[in-house]
Amino acid sequence: MDASSRTALEHNLRIVLVGTQHPGNIGSAARAMKTMGLSSLVLVAPEKAPDRDTHAMAAGADDLIEAAPVFASLAEAVADCRWVLGCTARNRRIQLEPLHPRVAAGRALVAAASGPVALVFGRERSGLDNAEMALCNGAVHIPSNPEFSSLNLAAAVQVLSYELRCALLGDTPEPAASDEGVRTPPPSGDAATHAQLEGLFEHLATTLDAIDFHKGRTPDSAMRKLRRLYLRANLDAAEVRLLHGILADSERMARLAGQRAGSSEIL
Ligand code: SAH
Repeated sequence: MDASSRTALEHNLRIVLVGTQHPGNIGSAARAMKTMGLSSLVLVAPEKAPDRDTHAMAAGADDLIEAAPVFASLAEAVADCRWVLGCTARNRRIQLEPLHPRVAAGRALVAAASGPVALVFGRERSGLDNAEMALCNGAVHIPSNPEFSSLNLAAAVQVLSYELRCALLGDTPEPAASDEGVRTPPPSGDAATHAQLEGLFEHLATTLDAIDFHKGRTPDSAMRKLRRLYLRANLDAAEVRLLHGILADSERMARLAGQRAGSSEIL
């Protein structure tokens, strides 16, 4: 997708905040949107108008707040929309079968090609009321912990904005070449722990010093490469022990060689 069609789509993706109670949340929501490339923010009857808290939390996304129209009702805010989705923390008590945010984002993008699409978020205390949900064509539920399902308003806006951005950017990226050498998740249960690997790297560093491997060069570059090499190998705990054994023997040999050289100097 080229940049101008992406901008047009982004413009059609509208975030609607209904009856927001904490002005700070309006700012946080604007920031969440802007980080994900969205800019169309609409307010419906906020309990308190945007204030200093709003701008403090917006952290540079003030342009979205200044451009945000304020409507008296949700019906007016979504009158020109092709598709309207109500975001709800409640999974069971709603009539509409809720969509997963990823599915909702994919469909919202398709709909946004022909006109504005609204994602509607409710009040911090009570969410969207039944009449407001009835105005929506679909519901979205972020699959949160059923025992503690309500996200902070701006956090919910962030999740949906992120999904919209992923949908806009396309498929999951392939691992970059720079990922080479990053430790991949271990296949077996006995993978070495972080501390065991760090212990190995420390031992390796002292051994390389003891055998004068660096010969006056700084050890950083060699150690970086060796770390990458060993991380790529996905060592298990027994392999770490084996390498410690080799390092310990190398150190012992280096000590012996040093003692021999010392005694031959005395002779
Ligand atoms: N106590 C309210 C929750 C309000 S949280 C209730 O029970 O409905 C404020 C808004 O954030 C919600 O109206 C909703 O739009 C959004 N939100 C919070 N958690 C969410 C979730 N798990 N899935 C989808 N939207 C959520």
